[in-house]
Amino acid sequence: MILDGKALSDRIKAELTAQTTAFTAQTGVTPCLATILVGEDPASAVYVRSKRRSCAKIGYESRHHHLPADTTQADLLQLVHDLNADDAVHGILVQLPLPKSIDADAIIDAIALHKDVDGFHPRSVGHLALKKPGFAPCTPAGIMRLLQESGIELSGKRAVVIGRSAIVGLPAVLMLTHADATVTVAHSRTTRADLEDLVRKADVVVAAVGRPEFVPGAWIKPGAVVIDVGINRVPNPADPDNPRGMLVGDVEFAAAAERASWITPVPGGVGPMTIAMLMTNTLVAARRAAGLVAFGRSGNQPPEPDRRSDGRS
Ligand code: NDP
Repeated sequence: MILDGKALSDRIKAELTAQTTAFTAQTGVTPCLATILVGEDPASAVYVRSKRRSCAKIGYESRHHHLPADTTQADLLQLVHDLNADDAVHGILVQLPLPKSIDADAIIDAIALHKDVDGFHPRSVGHLALKKPGFAPCTPAGIMRLLQESGIELSGKRAVVIGRSAIVGLPAVLMLTHADATVTVAHSRTTRADLEDLVRKADVVVAAVGRPEFVPGAWIKPGAVVIDVGINRVPNPADPDNPRGMLVGDVEFAAAAERASWITPVPGGVGPMTIAMLMTNTLVAARRAAGLVAFGRSGNQPPEPDRRSDGRS
């Protein structure tokens, strides 16, 4: 079966629209996401546009700052500080990658923790690792929500995460571990033979590598769940003259779909869920700023009572 991230994302955004109307009626506050784009990278511009479109659809304000590629580190830091200090701004998103002349870590470090709706701040990552309250990175959070809403049980299951980036692979490892899966992480130094062995045994495969059809469908264990994070543009054999080509994931979809119980398509799987989680986090940030939500509520989960580590409410 297809894990339809687009449909779930549409549902989440519709719920957020209703919640935002109620929130604004109650508080007079409109949730606001500030986006920062530095330079002219076309893919980044598309991502930011799509995030801003979602804001408009839900009823958030979005304030966009498009800065030239030669923006200095000091000027960008100043903008982040100004947005931190602006009470009307609830979330700050700095679109990555930043130009090489800028120290991206220093910029992310400067974002106020309560406005870190992307969940990339080192303290947000630390909180995630320690199961403490805070914002989790949107892509793995979207994966977890998709699994959860589809009723896929993770406890005791063998999961392999291919890729260990700070924004996808590593937090996915943490979140799957917190969900009681038995998790192995593979990366560029994992041998192809070991990778095949791990994938063949895995009940859940999360592929976040960035290489087209890197995981052969024949490796997928019958009945496994396949989460394909990769977004790779390749020539379209059906339309070879189209310079835009087509998008494929990191998994050989058709062959994997023959064997998997659940699989995410590319596009239409993880991508839309990432934006849905960003939108969720923005409303949570606004509600927290208005004093309506205790800091203990995770932004990426559907509402539920906060739980103690022993599992009791
Ligand atoms: P990175 O390039 O930051 O990380 C890629 C990871 O893949 C690294 O950890 C790398 O290992 C690992 N890797 C590279 N080669 C191999 C190999 N031969 N075997 C096993 N692992 C390997 O990418 P991201 O994590 O940012 O993104 C991954 C993919 O997901 C990309 O296609 C990206 O476009 C997509 N993406 C999609 C999103 C969505 O919303 N759907 C959001 C974010 C990303 P090492 O650490 O050793 O270098």
